[in-house]
Order: sequence, then structure tokens, then C-alpha cells
Amino acid sequence: MTILGILLSVSGCAHQAGSQLPNSQVRDNLLGTVITVSIYEETDDSIFDDVFNAISLIEQRMSANLPDSEVAGITAAAGKSPVMVSEDTFYVIKQAYETSIASGGAFNLAIGPLVRLWGIATEAPRVPSQAEIEHVQNLLDYNAVRLSDDDRSVFLELEGMSVDLGAIAKGYAGDVAGKIVREHGVGHAILDLGGNIVTVGGRPDGTDWRVGIKNPIAGEQGYIGSIPVKDKAVVTSGIYERYFESGGDTYHHILDSKTGYPSCSELLSVSVVSNSSTDADRLTTAAFVLGLEDGMDFLKGYKNTEAVFVTTDFEIYLTPGLKDSFKLADDRFRVVGE
Ligand code: AMP
Ligand code: MG
Repeated sequence: MTILGILLSVSGCAHQAGSQLPNSQVRDNLLGTVITVSIYEETDDSIFDDVFNAISLIEQRMSANLPDSEVAGITAAAGKSPVMVSEDTFYVIKQAYETSIASGGAFNLAIGPLVRLWGIATEAPRVPSQAEIEHVQNLLDYNAVRLSDDDRSVFLELEGMSVDLGAIAKGYAGDVAGKIVREHGVGHAILDLGGNIVTVGGRPDGTDWRVGIKNPIAGEQGYIGSIPVKDKAVVTSGIYERYFESGGDTYHHILDSKTGYPSCSELLSVSVVSNSSTDADRLTTAAFVLGLEDGMDFLKGYKNTEAVFVTTDFEIYLTPGLKDSFKLADDRFRVVGE
């Protein structure tokens, strides 16, 4: 499930200037993934509790699977009544809604019924029948999600609809975690939320971190390249993150609500670099479903946003801001252009 890794060159002089070895803590029971917080300076341990508690609260509010979450409450009231939610949840749902509109439904916050049909997040995923897919199709209409700023409420017009924040909530958690770390006065840290990377500052020596772009071939490990970042988030959507096999075919977890099937394009993965981890998360999912050409066009609408697209032909496409700084690390892949 790990998506991206940090390439930290812990060199022979790591013991100089304090230590380059981080003070790290890991949790493997939050947001369905492994979360590692690494602080590259002296710090008191309360920072870790503050970060993990905040992420836990986000999960309790936004999980589609926890029966008491705010998202579950919205689903339970679908077709009946609006549900008032916390500021956090409303913000994330609004971002997800706007991304759905902007991407023409490539990102679709109302994709919940389809995700459930495929059992994506369960131990027993399966390929649904065409009839089952057709049956949920009218429940996937993001235009039938009504948001009211006045009372921060969310209303799903049809019974059976549900919102799924799986493509954005982890990104939001990264922003919240980064903010907490900075509020503790920390200037150098790396947060890894199941492969969503948030960097706080640069390395202790002032240089950029190098974040690895994970090899997107399912079942393989390692990195195909790396990019330099400072105070940025790097998030990847890829076919290798979660998938299952059935009847000799492989099915991954990013669905196209227009076909009802896993998004089928020429892409293995899309990574987005942004100041905001929420933005990076929502935009990678949208770009992945849009495909190489439309995804690249779509991202042009967002400032300070760079991306790495990797195709099934092992070709790497970079946005202009990464052209000179991307370092290839796997010669089966080649950088072919914009
Ligand atoms: P990500 O890895 O950020 O691309 O998010 C994938 C997760 O978001 C899946 O596990 C689903 O819970 C959900 N999801 C799947 N397809 C979509 C989609 N087209 N739009 C929005 N969320 C999706
Ligand atoms: Mg995403």
C-alpha cells in the first residue's frame, strides 16, 4: 500500500549538526493505512499524540466505513433530510464537490454506492454484474448532493446515495498534521500518510528533501525516480495501491463512475506536487481518471501544481516545473516530455 518513499541520504556526516536521524513514530491503525511522522530536530513527544489524535478525529468523522461517522450519518439520511456536519467535514465535502464539478465527474464524491458494490475497501472485493452497475448508476450523480453554507449541512437527494471521501480525506489529514507540526515550532519534518507525503520545511541543512516516486508496477518495490521538494505535499494515485485479481484480470480501486469499472486509461500512476496535500490528493484522483492528455490539461488550471504521469508503456510525462529536477532511477522507464 505504500506509495511514495522518502529518499533520505543519511550520509557519513549524519552525526554532525545535531543528528539527521529523525525522531519518528508510526501508527498502523489510522485511515486504513500506515502513518509515519518523522521530526528532524529535538522535540517533545506530545507532538506525536497531537498529530495522531487529530488524524483519528478526521477518520471518525469522514470514514465511509465507521457506522458513527458524519459521512455515515449523511448516507443514512439520504433522500430524507440534510445533516449538519463539523467544519472539517463540510470543508472536505465542499472541496470534493467542487473537484467533481471541475473534473466533469472524473473525481466523483458521490461514488460511494459503486465503491461498495465492488467491495473496494473490504476483504472480499468482487466484480459486480452489469445489472448491478446499472442499478446504482443513477445514485452516482454528484449534482444531487446539496450543500448549504448557512448551516453546514449536506443533503443527498436520493435514498441509496452516499459520499466517499477516500480520494481526499487522507490528503486533508496531511494538511492538518503538517499544521500541527508547524504550530509546535518544528521546521524540518516528513509526514508519510500511507504514501501521501507532506514535507515541513527542507532538510535540516536547508537543502530540499528528495521524494521518491514509487515504482507503479503492481507487485514491484522501489522508486522510478525522485523530485526535490520543500514545504510541499506529494501525493500519488496509482493502480498498484489497492487491487484484486479475478478470472485472470486485475481490478484496481480507482473507479470511473461513467463506466462503473476501474478507470481504464494508459496510466499506471499520477503524482501531484502542491502546497496543499488536500489539493494534491483530490487532483491526482481526478487526473488519473481523466487520463494522460485530459489530466495534463486539467492540471494546467491549477497554479503551483506539478505532476508526474507514468504510462503503461513505461513513459514518464512531467509538467514544466519538474523537467530539470526529476531524477530517473529505473532505466526501464523513460522521460518523454510534457
Ligand atoms: P485515491 O487513491 O486518492 O485516488 O483514492 C481512491 C479512493 O477513493 C478509492 O479507494 C475509493 O474509496 C474512492 N474513489 C474511487 N474512485 C473514485 C473517483 N472516481 N472519485 C472519487 N473517489 C473515488
Ligand atoms: Mg486522491
